[in-house]
Amino acid sequence: MVTPQIAIIGAGPCGLTLARLLECKGITDYIVYERDPGPDANRAGGSLDIHPETGQHALRQAGLFDKFKQYARYADTAFAIGGKDGNKIFQMGEGRDAPEIDRAELRKILLDAVPKEKIKWGHILKEVTFGDDHRPQLHFGDGTVLSGIKLVIGADGAWSKVRRVITEATPQFTRKTYLEGRIRRDNAFYETMAREFGPGMYLTVGDEKITITQRQGDGSYRIYFGLQTTENFFRTLDLHNVEVTRDMLLSPKYYGDWAERYKDLIRHATDFWAWSLHTLSKEDMNWKPVPGATLCGDAAHVTIPNGEGVNLAMTDALELVTSIEQHGMEHLDEAVQKYETEMFPRAVESIAQGSGIVEAMFVKGPEVFLEKFGPMIGLTN
Ligand SMILES: Cc1cc2nc3c(=O)[nH]c(=O)nc-3n(C[C@H](O)[C@H](O)[C@H](O)COP(=O)(O)OP(=O)(O)OC[C@H]3O[C@@H](n4cnc5c(N)ncnc54)[C@H](O)[C@@H]3O)c2cc1C
Repeated sequence: MVTPQIAIIGAGPCGLTLARLLECKGITDYIVYERDPGPDANRAGGSLDIHPETGQHALRQAGLFDKFKQYARYADTAFAIGGKDGNKIFQMGEGRDAPEIDRAELRKILLDAVPKEKIKWGHILKEVTFGDDHRPQLHFGDGTVLSGIKLVIGADGAWSKVRRVITEATPQFTRKTYLEGRIRRDNAFYETMAREFGPGMYLTVGDEKITITQRQGDGSYRIYFGLQTTENFFRTLDLHNVEVTRDMLLSPKYYGDWAERYKDLIRHATDFWAWSLHTLSKEDMNWKPVPGATLCGDAAHVTIPNGEGVNLAMTDALELVTSIEQHGMEHLDEAVQKYETEMFPRAVESIAQGSGIVEAMFVKGPEVFLEKFGPMIGLTN
């Protein structure tokens, strides 16, 4: 294997933004190692809203904003809030400068902007160690060991393997799980769903549970059933067994007494998938710099989804590459130190915001949610 000076682990939004920005700065001695076997393998996940000062700014710096605009969906910025009785109590966000893009489309834009040979698919990082030269060595799943690297950047998400050589911090379960389901365009319920839930996002709050419906780029819907569970709860269920999963959700413990429109969602939803929500803590954001290794994006500061994750991941990428450009390749450790010092406060804010949002959402009803959430976004009444 060719040894790059910079190894990026993970071809998610963070790792690919790093790669693209390094290319833009003429720093080409890097390689991205991704565990997925190929570009289409990733379970793509939902639509993402890209914010002006963070995600959009990074895309501009990467020369990709015009490309992004070809996919950006301004009609999907609407955000409605309702109760389990089926009534909508609030709507906002139309025309917000935070257009949505599907994760798969964002990945494609970034992938198209990085030379193909710079991404090594099917490379599962198992471990990082340090050699006699005090520089990182990468151990991959197929037994290959790569040494002689100057800097490894862990952009390998919530369960980062790179993190282990930097900090003992481990994401903690939040006792919240999102069970994702889909209503695709060929679903018999699709037309009703589109009429009832409309564009953008629709959050329903009731009895310390939520549902979020989110329109995707192809018009289909993702639904997140947000529940308070034990960490292993969904491991005890066979989510491929659609009927069993629907029955569980329709039981009195979960959505059994919610309005028919929600029960219809459950009766028609397919492709169930569980996201157990984990977070690092604000106190974790203080590690001492480790020469030769750093973290970006969720690997550095995974939190409960708060609408910022991908934006912050791309901001980290921009800030790290800017620091590398300023310090030069001979001073990568100094570049990392500056980047990390400035990243910690951003990460602390994001983690606090994630906890705040989840505390606001899992409440008795939408009125309580608005009381708690309103001030966070500057709503006064
Ligand atoms: C249900 C849910 C909904 C969300 N909704 C939103 C939203 O609306 N808006 C928003 O901004 N954020 C949202 N997020 C958060 C957002 O997904 C993350 O913050 C964002 O994807 C972080 O990007 P990343 O590149 O740092 O990590 P990831 O997207 O996790 O990418 C990590 C990459 O590393 C690869 N990888 C992992 N381990 C290894 C390994 N050992 N070896 C090699 N490669 C590896 C993975 O395959 C992946 O490609 C949501 C998250 C969840 C779970």
